[in-house]
Amino acid sequence: VPEGHSVHRIARQFSTNFVGRRVAVSSPQGRFDQGASLLDGHVLADSRAIGKHLFLQFDDERFLHVHLGMYGAWDFAGEISTDATMLSANGRMGQTNQRGTFLDAQAPSIDDAALAGASRAAVPADVSPGGVPGASLGAPRRARIRMAENEAVSAAPAEFPPEPVGAVRVRLLTGTAVADLRGATTVEVLDGGQVQAVLDRLGPDPLIDKPKAGERRFVRRASAIARPIGLVLMDQEVVSGIGNVYRAEILFRQRLDPHTPAKQVSEEKLGKIWRDWSKLLRLGVETGQMMTRDRLSPAKYAQAMANRDDRHWVYHRTGLPCRVSRTPIVMEMMADRKLYWCPSCQT
Ligand SMILES: [Zn+2]
Repeated sequence: VPEGHSVHRIARQFSTNFVGRRVAVSSPQGRFDQGASLLDGHVLADSRAIGKHLFLQFDDERFLHVHLGMYGAWDFAGEISTDATMLSANGRMGQTNQRGTFLDAQAPSIDDAALAGASRAAVPADVSPGGVPGASLGAPRRARIRMAENEAVSAAPAEFPPEPVGAVRVRLLTGTAVADLRGATTVEVLDGGQVQAVLDRLGPDPLIDKPKAGERRFVRRASAIARPIGLVLMDQEVVSGIGNVYRAEILFRQRLDPHTPAKQVSEEKLGKIWRDWSKLLRLGVETGQMMTRDRLSPAKYAQAMANRDDRHWVYHRTGLPCRVSRTPIVMEMMADRKLYWCPSCQT
């Protein structure tokens, strides 16, 4: 299941290579014909991830809302970004991403400037094989990339646009890039009010909320709940974007027993959890990997980036010795999801 960092990276792919362009929207599979026809021919004005939710805002104030669920994936092809550094450099990291700004279509913003330029250029120009003038490492290049829980880059299709393959629920096509969505649990067209209703139900996201405000909101929500902290961290109404891997790893990093009732976790500790999630999420967006170990030597770091099993403290390590205490890591089911933890370190 894609966790928050994956969805933020997908949002950045759209920001970098689709925002500001007129988009042909279709449903090759046919199940989203009506929604697609509402968006077809409009300019994509903004792309934003909040937790595991993606919102693509079009120039007519309609939004495409996507939640990938367990099996969803985006396939991008054409002039696209395949390099993690590029995605982070051209993304909106560090910009003030207030919920209000996101929905306030009247406020002048960078997007409006891009939009004005895009309307004048009015797209379908042919893809230039050489790519962007002055292209440097990481600039968009002709390729194909599948973005879901993991990312897989492959050679560009011979033709552009490629024929849709299989059950493509939604296709977004510009003159230079195409995005095909398959298998998502939520695909819908919303207006601003409906988007706000979704946002109102979501806990804070470290890349959207201001650090202190996000932390306060998380601490306030979590400290009111009697359920175990191991469940609460995956409750998207309490905090956005944490899934099974980050849940296990954050609890280990904080040496916290997953069964501790959330309301018994000190506010200081909850604050640390929030700040740790903020750090891990940023790292995940930058690298495309759920790297949760730190203080690794350069060689160990490279090894961990190449091999998932070396990236984590406890996740997927049932029966293996804890990297700190040598105690065998335990796996148990918590609300139907596998939870990994160390009974010696996490008390
Ligand atoms: Zn241990």
